[in-house]
Amino acid sequence: MKNVVLLGSTGSIGTSTVKVAEDLPERIRLIALAAGNNSELLLDQTRKHQPAVISINDPAKARELRKTLGTTCEVFSGAEGLLKLATLPEADIVLIAIVGTAGLQPALAAIRAGKDIAVASKEILVMAGEIVMNEARKYGVRVLAVDSEHSAIFQCLDGKPSASVRRLWLTASGGPFRDATLWPKEKFAEITVERALKHPSWVMGRKITIDSATLFNKGLEMIEARWLFDIEMARVGVVVHPQSIVHSMVEFVDGSLLAQLSTPDMCLPIQYALTYPDRAASDRVQTDFPKLGNLTFQAPDPERFPALILARRAGEVGGTLPAVLNAANEVAVEAFVNRKINFPQITETVSRTMDAHQVVAHPTLEQILAADLWARGEAAR
Ligand code: MG
Repeated sequence: MKNVVLLGSTGSIGTSTVKVAEDLPERIRLIALAAGNNSELLLDQTRKHQPAVISINDPAKARELRKTLGTTCEVFSGAEGLLKLATLPEADIVLIAIVGTAGLQPALAAIRAGKDIAVASKEILVMAGEIVMNEARKYGVRVLAVDSEHSAIFQCLDGKPSASVRRLWLTASGGPFRDATLWPKEKFAEITVERALKHPSWVMGRKITIDSATLFNKGLEMIEARWLFDIEMARVGVVVHPQSIVHSMVEFVDGSLLAQLSTPDMCLPIQYALTYPDRAASDRVQTDFPKLGNLTFQAPDPERFPALILARRAGEVGGTLPAVLNAANEVAVEAFVNRKINFPQITETVSRTMDAHQVVAHPTLEQILAADLWARGEAAR
């Protein structure tokens, strides 16, 4: 039985994690749940799973929940609540699926309390990959990937060191504007918010869906892979695979490739992270090859999707630059969703913010957070 703390229980990854826990009641116990705003869903989840501790961002909502739940469950709030949950003595693993940078401090607190962490929030490794992986080594805990791509690579690597790897191949669906004949570069300025929010193969949150359309999502994943698997950016490649069946691949030094495949369903990588090193029987995900037909692959188009070039540069330079890329992108996506800038201006904003940044090498957490704050101001300007 694994005692799981779930930070971000009401979001897309959070609700999938709850499903996985319901699939495997004899293996997974949700001992603590934290949510951002959705206190109704948090209350439902609490009644069903009876965690000992919960937390919600807004202190007023926490007071309401305390009144409703009485003494059956302890209720915390805010950033403090997240830290409390991340370090619960009974926890075996902390799954972090909070949007934005709020997951960073709880991730480090969990590691320092000797907990394995399962990472769904990309910001944690993109912003502070060096610090997080160093701390995990120091405290002897695992950093497990929840993202489908990184879970695939982790499964294919099966403990092999990066010296046995020629290249990691992250697959990308290519997003809704993959087709260069339908969507030539000249038409990118006409892309509407509604069109960008329609993802061809995954149902996800709003920010990550826009990131999939610009390919910034893949860019962030390249940087995550660099840290998770201790490999330099030059050996992290991207291949467009519209069917999203091959979740990623490892090309070994002998030329052999291993890939992990399935029908796209986030429950699978979540379950693997929570049951690792075991595989637990579940009927949830079924893959029917004859029905799938063709699996196709193509090179990404950096002309139309410069996010990949920007991410590679950020990963190669390192220091505070990935945090700047991440923060500028967050601000730009928000501006696009609010119809203040057009689609190509998302990438332009990130590029200009990166150009204006004075990179700090091997930054402290404080320097990373300062760079994040600076980039938000600069991008907004
Ligand atoms: Mg992914």
